[in-house]
Amino acid sequence: MDCKPISFSGTEMKVELTNLCSDGRCTFCSPTIRPVVIEAGQEAFLQRFEDNLDIYLENGGRKVILTGGGEPTDAPGKLFGSLRIVRERTEARGVELELLAVYTNAVKLLRPIMGCGGQTFLDRLAEMGLKDINLSVHGLTREQKEVISGPAMADVDFETLIPAIVRKGMRVMTRTVLADGFIDSVQQVEEFVSWAARLGVGICYFSDMFSLPIRNEQTTPGSQEVMKWTDDHRAQFDELVADVMKSNAFTFVSEFARHNAQGRTFEFKHCESGIRVMLGDLAIGNESETEATYGYMKPDGSMDTHNNARDTSHRQFVSPEETKAYLQMYRPGRDDL
Ligand code: SF4
Repeated sequence: MDCKPISFSGTEMKVELTNLCSDGRCTFCSPTIRPVVIEAGQEAFLQRFEDNLDIYLENGGRKVILTGGGEPTDAPGKLFGSLRIVRERTEARGVELELLAVYTNAVKLLRPIMGCGGQTFLDRLAEMGLKDINLSVHGLTREQKEVISGPAMADVDFETLIPAIVRKGMRVMTRTVLADGFIDSVQQVEEFVSWAARLGVGICYFSDMFSLPIRNEQTTPGSQEVMKWTDDHRAQFDELVADVMKSNAFTFVSEFARHNAQGRTFEFKHCESGIRVMLGDLAIGNESETEATYGYMKPDGSMDTHNNARDTSHRQFVSPEETKAYLQMYRPGRDDL
C-alpha cells in the first residue's frame, strides 16, 4: 500500500490514467515540465486503481476525477475500466460519490471508439454513469486556441459537443487557462462565460498557470521551453480577480482554499445567466507531507497524498536524463518540448 492512512474527507482522488496526449499541443502543459513516471500496463494499472480506490473510499473520499498526465481518451481501456471499477466498488460499499468527472481536451468525444460498432466516446461515458465532463477550452477564437493548444483542440466543435453532453444528462464544466495575450481580462472572461452559458455549461473555471516554487532536477526535469513559456505568459491573477469583483457582470460568492491551501479559488455568479464562474490559482511541488492535498494516483499506479516530487513519494519516476525521450514518446509529433 503506497498511500498513508489519512482522512480523504473533502479531498479529491485525482487519477492520471496515462502520460499519453496525442492531440494536445498546449504551450503551458505542466506534465511536460514535471517528473514523468513509467506507465503501467492496463491490467496492472486497473488492479492498483481498484486497491487505491478502496483506500480512498474507506477513508472518507467521495470525489473521483479521471484526468491526465495526458489525455484520458487516449487510454480508452484504462478510462472505461476505471469507470467500471468505480461503479462496482461504490455499489459494493453502498457509497454515493459527490463528484465523478473526466477531464478531457474534448478532441475525441464525438468520435467512434475503435472496434465498438460506431459508439462514440461520449455515448460510452454516458452509458457508464459519468456525471461530469470537464472540457479544456483555452481561447475565444479558433486562432487563439490554435496558438495556445494546437489545431486539433482548436477544431473541436463545441457548439455541437456541449449541447450533446447536456442532452445525455451530464453536467459540463469548462477549464480555461489564464495567459497573458490570451484570456487575461475581465472583458474576455465575460465574453467566454456568455458563450459557454448559451451552450449549456454549468461552471466555467479559469485557472492561473501553476506556480512551481521548487525548481531543480528532481522537481522540474522536463521541458524548460514550456516552463519558460509559462513564466513569460503568466496573467496578473490578483488584478484580474479584483477586476471581476468590480464588474457589474458578476456577483462575488465566496473565496475558499484549494487543496489544503495550496491554492485559492474565487467563486462568482454570472448575473445574466446565473452560472458559476471560478478563478483559481495553485502551487505544486511543495505540498505538506502530513496532510492530504489529494489522493493522487499517477500512471505508474502509485497513489500518494500530494503531488510533490520529493524523494519520499512512492513513484516509479523516469530518470531526469531519460525524461526528454519519454516526453517525445508520450507527446507524439510534438517538436516544441
Ligand atoms: S491537453 Fe494540453 S495540457 Fe492536457 S495533456 Fe494534452 S497538451 Fe497537456
